[in-house]
Amino acid sequence: MGATATTAPEQLWREAQQLIPGGVNSPVRAFKSVGGEPVFIERAEGAWLESIDGRKFVDLIGAWGPMILGHAHPGIVAAVNAAAAKGFAFGAPTSAEVRMARTIADLVPSIEMVRLVNSGTEATMSALRLARAYTGRDKIIKFSGCYHGHADFLLVRAGSGVATLGLPDSPGVPASVTANTLVADFNDEESVRVLFQEHGADIAGLIVEPVVGNSGTVAPAPGFLEFLREITRAHGALLIFDEVMTGFRVSLGGAQGRFGVLPDLTCLGKIVGGGVPVGAYGGRSDIMSLVAPAGPMYQAGTMSGNPLATAAGLAALEALRAPGVYERLEVTSAAIEAGFREAAASTGVPVVINRVGSMMTVFFTRESVTGWPSADRCDRAAYGAFFHAMLARGVYLPPAQFEACFVSLAHGEMEIDIIRKAAKESFEEVAKR
Ligand code: PLP
Repeated sequence: MGATATTAPEQLWREAQQLIPGGVNSPVRAFKSVGGEPVFIERAEGAWLESIDGRKFVDLIGAWGPMILGHAHPGIVAAVNAAAAKGFAFGAPTSAEVRMARTIADLVPSIEMVRLVNSGTEATMSALRLARAYTGRDKIIKFSGCYHGHADFLLVRAGSGVATLGLPDSPGVPASVTANTLVADFNDEESVRVLFQEHGADIAGLIVEPVVGNSGTVAPAPGFLEFLREITRAHGALLIFDEVMTGFRVSLGGAQGRFGVLPDLTCLGKIVGGGVPVGAYGGRSDIMSLVAPAGPMYQAGTMSGNPLATAAGLAALEALRAPGVYERLEVTSAAIEAGFREAAASTGVPVVINRVGSMMTVFFTRESVTGWPSADRCDRAAYGAFFHAMLARGVYLPPAQFEACFVSLAHGEMEIDIIRKAAKESFEEVAKR
């Protein structure tokens, strides 16, 4: 008999592993890096997740970023229901797509024209095809510890999920496909300079997570994004911000809004879909005009601009435009950070906490974490112990050291208190190991 909502979690997990590779539809969900079995979620509301066996958790993942307004936000639920009643997909233009494009162009400082796709992976893959089409060059630069989705040519030293599984690169990616992917180190200007000196005339674009989320949270050093802007411009290469995580997260205008550095192209995902699958890439009109059918660079999608997705995305972006939203998120996030910091200090567990707005990571290390090499030296086993101690006390952290916690607008005083208390007891447990 197949699994039902009343199946015991252990049985469901066995069945999942027989039917789905590793039991999950995206690797990091499987708890491989922290050990143990994943929790099956039945529903979520506000800042809370509920498992199929009725356990409740304060959620600090927010579906890996999209749920900045909290789960099952009434405005988004109503918008999706209203859109569903009018039909799920037409494969023809809709007014909502135009409203969505207008909203994105209004909010993201460097975007004049935008194309909707279905995921962050599609957004980065398409933006880099466009950079190559625009410049007529083949090489690209990415940073170690930055993840830009699972397109073959970007699966090189890609941080988070890939690193967690101990796969330096994925089998199945031919060396010829990554031959034009050059890798520098985040926050290390010299590593970028060297690549431009050697390959400057062949570099189509440089793609970066302007605040890294996929090594855990890492902020750009002062001047680093400005440096990337200057060096790409000097060599005629495009600067591409992968704002799949940071877009509408670290400010309403994303990282470019927060730090005032404008890329040529921007990739979006997660929040832009309000929890429904959406991605987008956009930028200067002269570059975007190369995309088919306006221009010759081919890129398409049956479900792109889907009515349910645009309804959810528009409702989310509208809610985020309300005054005071990001100030409130900052206050809540700072309180959670302080809770972690005080709890760690009182138990003597050495940690470094990196936070940019509502993205943060507790690194189990004594040294500052400024990029992949320092992130990689963290004590993953200590993180695993902390993760399980927190989970047992009803707080759901990312199940891997190299990920960001995402705070939502639904987190309030009660959730902050629960996190603080759980953190104190959990650090005590880690200290006793
Ligand atoms: N870019 C960044 C910075 C991401 O964090 C992710 C996913 O986590 C992606 C791209 C890929 O997005 P998706 O998982 O929607 O394909």
